[in-house]
Amino acid sequence: QVDLDEDIDYMFKVVMIGDSGVGKSQLLNRFAKNEFNMNSKSTIGVEFLTKTVVMDHKVVKAQIWDTAGQERYQAITTAYYRGAAGALVAYDISRRSSFDHVGKWLEELQIHTDKNTIIMLVGNKSDLSSSREVPTEVAKDFAQQEGLFFIETSALDSNNVESAFFSLLSQIYANVS
Ligand code: GDP
Ligand code: MG
Repeated sequence: QVDLDEDIDYMFKVVMIGDSGVGKSQLLNRFAKNEFNMNSKSTIGVEFLTKTVVMDHKVVKAQIWDTAGQERYQAITTAYYRGAAGALVAYDISRRSSFDHVGKWLEELQIHTDKNTIIMLVGNKSDLSSSREVPTEVAKDFAQQEGLFFIETSALDSNNVESAFFSLLSQIYANVS
């Protein structure tokens, strides 16, 4: 077998954070494997998944880290964040508390990553618009204030999932190239 790693131009570590149950694992499942699991409980069984994309004629390998449920106990370790070039901070548009906790997750990032880390705020479960608790404009304004990129996604119907990861990766790329 050919070792494709030889053709990688860039390798970026990305971490997924946000309250338990907002859909972090399913977002990653959708992006890396185009799968969705309605009854996912906690871990997807690995520390990270990788996905290789091409941007600007360069081969970029994203190593995307998912928690194994430690966020429930505020027990995400320093090692989890170490070397992260980007972070995807997710909340659930149908659960206000998960949005209210975003500030706490941003503090964690401030403590554990350097200030060049690109942060993408992701309002997931956009398919649940009938039970929306976080207006798009409220999240958009918050993101602007905090200097974050922002997008709404649905891991269930795939809406904007690729866009979320792609724009995060291209911002990271723009930062280093
Ligand atoms: P995590 O704890 O943040 O990793 O959340 P999970 O990915 O395990 O998802 C928690 C629950 O929300 C699971 O029952 C998922 O099936 C469900 N879920 C995840 N993403 C979506 C979505 O975009 N829409 C809907 N309706 N449910 C979702
Ligand atoms: Mg999970």
